[in-house]
Amino acid sequence: MEYTGSCHCGAIGFTYRTSLAPGEWSVRACQCSFCRAHDALSTSDPDGEIDFTAEVPGLLQRYRFGLGTADFLICQRCGVYVGAAIKSDCGTFGIINTHALSDAPANLAAAAPISYDAENSEGRVSRRGQRWTPVQQLPD
Ligand SMILES: [Zn+2]
Repeated sequence: MEYTGSCHCGAIGFTYRTSLAPGEWSVRACQCSFCRAHDALSTSDPDGEIDFTAEVPGLLQRYRFGLGTADFLICQRCGVYVGAAIKSDCGTFGIINTHALSDAPANLAAAAPISYDAENSEGRVSRRGQRWTPVQQLPD
């Protein structure tokens, strides 16, 4: 199944492909101050795929914080956070913000609050490589 999402103004977005039923999605309410401020809910499927898109080149803003291992993708015009990506030796992996989905599945799995504060940089990159979704496309 293919799910699309975008920021509010439509400048940036994603296509997320997963064979998981929405009720089986791993939906995580990360408790870091960035995700709480955006009320962001993350999901990923290691067997899925993400294409990040930029309808308006130049409006895809990357933001790094904390350990600085991932790029959080934000629209420079409307400020919506659509997802994040990390580049590692094994490839590029990402998550989407389920609140940016164009048509959120009605029966989406309940979100689980999660804190990753105890992780070091190595553990964080390793976890994302295992649990995040392979990214096929990520504009500059
Ligand atoms: Zn926008």
